[in-house]
Amino acid sequence: MKAVTYKGPNEVQIEEVPAPTIQASGDAIVRVTASSICGSDLHLYHGRLPFAQKGFVLGHEFLGVVEEVGDGVTDLKSGDRVVAAFSTSCGRCYYCRRGLTTQCMRGGQVFGFGQLSGGQADYVRIPLAETTCERVPDTLDDTQAILIGDVLATGYYCADIGKVRPGDIVLVLGCGPVGLCTVMSAWLFGASKVLAVDSLPERLELAAKFGAVPVNMAQEDVNTAVRQHTGGRGADVVCEAVGSQEALRSCFGYARPGGSIAAVGVYAEASFEFPIFLSFLRDLSFRVGICPAKQYMSTLVDLIQSGRIDTTPLITHTMPLEDSAHGYDIFARRTDGCVKILLKS
Ligand SMILES: [Zn+2]
Ligand SMILES: [Zn+2]
Repeated sequence: MKAVTYKGPNEVQIEEVPAPTIQASGDAIVRVTASSICGSDLHLYHGRLPFAQKGFVLGHEFLGVVEEVGDGVTDLKSGDRVVAAFSTSCGRCYYCRRGLTTQCMRGGQVFGFGQLSGGQADYVRIPLAETTCERVPDTLDDTQAILIGDVLATGYYCADIGKVRPGDIVLVLGCGPVGLCTVMSAWLFGASKVLAVDSLPERLELAAKFGAVPVNMAQEDVNTAVRQHTGGRGADVVCEAVGSQEALRSCFGYARPGGSIAAVGVYAEASFEFPIFLSFLRDLSFRVGICPAKQYMSTLVDLIQSGRIDTTPLITHTMPLEDSAHGYDIFARRTDGCVKILLKS
């Protein structure tokens, strides 16, 4: 089968690799119909992950049709359309029962980072398939459903752990796919106003399309804009969807006293100097974490079906799997107005 493989820093390639087979009774083999390239794939693409092995199959955002299931799988059958969470989970362990599916004691493996082959391929093996996948109803097409298992779930999670409440003014830092999904989610939690910060005009345009007040940090002072829109207080909730120390540090200045900060950007750095005294004086809450995507996926399917969330404007490019090297290149360089790329298998 064809698959996108990692070849070393800034290099991916489409290759012929052996198709996956059932290895455990809970496995399913899924024929991938669409996958996408995620911002966290770039950590790997840029060679920032030392454990990255050359030759493995990339991709943790994908959906498709069940082709075959292991003999322990009763709830899925050949022909079912499914979207997978970016990491596997058993649904039964201590952590899964508490909603922390990314901490699963039997699963917890992330697709496409070296431990488990990814979904930017013709076929993918999904361990613990019944609890790792969510069914996609036929009323949703691939473009509508592709982001459910990672970036949409992460945006929703950011608004959730930031504890956005009705009437809140929410500031979202970063209008990449996760930031834009956070904008959409903030409304569902009852935000009265959402401010969205970035420096790329096309991303700010999308944020505005989703109802946010765009703040172009290349042209205006973010702090001044935040004060103007919050009666001088600062934002009730600050959502960080960039993944840089600078962005994270700035959140502490944008939150109002008693406000909260939620960080879901992926950090390559191991540590961050936490402004503990400022947080103490201003009663700030700070929350960070890796989204337990599976926990949110059925809710997200319902929200998309009812028309309350539509992530299709994020998909700026659709191309065949064969063109994935070009896709990675424009996605990494953020050229050609690229926000999110859908790869068709
Ligand atoms: Zn991702
Ligand atoms: Zn588990």
